[in-house]
Amino acid sequence: MSGVADERFVSLRSFDGRAETLAEWAGDRGAPRLEARDVVFEYIPGTRVLDGWSAEFPAGSMTALTGPSGRGKSTLLYLLGLMLHPASGEILVDGDSVAGMRDAQRARLRASRFGFVFQDAALDQTRTVIDNVTETALYRGEAKRDARARARELLDRFGVDVPPDRKPGQVSGGQAQRIALCRALLNAPAVLLADEPTGNLDPATSVLVVEAMRDHARTGAAVIVVTHSPEVAAACDAEIRL
Ligand code: ADP
Repeated sequence: MSGVADERFVSLRSFDGRAETLAEWAGDRGAPRLEARDVVFEYIPGTRVLDGWSAEFPAGSMTALTGPSGRGKSTLLYLLGLMLHPASGEILVDGDSVAGMRDAQRARLRASRFGFVFQDAALDQTRTVIDNVTETALYRGEAKRDARARARELLDRFGVDVPPDRKPGQVSGGQAQRIALCRALLNAPAVLLADEPTGNLDPATSVLVVEAMRDHARTGAAVIVVTHSPEVAAACDAEIRL
């Protein structure tokens, strides 16, 4: 049995009835999409939030990060999303360590390969809903018309029925979360990181969101979801409890 430890995996949906860990399931598919190796992190010197944390996230998988508040789940998402730097240890994307990269390189990698759905949605309040959703696609050079058409489809799929020219300050928390998910999915990221993406949603919309993330994993992405919801965790291939 390779790599990934172990007892933290409290559940693993069996891909073929044999694999016991995500790493084993990933087998010879090559390097995992995303990997954390011995990651140590502290906000306050001497107080470790993560103390040598390792995990692999294969292409095509969806993993839940669960556990009580304060254990470091959000911190871990920021580390996996290259927004915080480990004190020691490293993060690897498609087998390559990002440890030696300059900030600008890391930012480019984030823009081209990563999608985020933060708890607070992190929308730009000065821009309209549709501009928020298309922002990164345009930055990547996609034609405005195509990006807007796909953005409208996604907003529609998740039932975000606000006028696209409205500012995010005028939408609900649940709508803001879905707008953030649309923005992330529009870019077809190789890594999708989501912090409680169903936290403010009704059960029917939660199901839509989980299905969309599963669909996205099927395209070969690694999807990582922080969640307190047993239903969301059960829909994942693996659950890592912090
Ligand atoms: P979780 O997402 O599991 O609730 P967090 O990653 O938010 O956990 O927090 C992990 C620990 O780090 C907590 O003890 C929290 O108080 C602390 N923490 C989080 N953010 C900061 C920060 N910016 N400065 C100092 N401590 C922080």
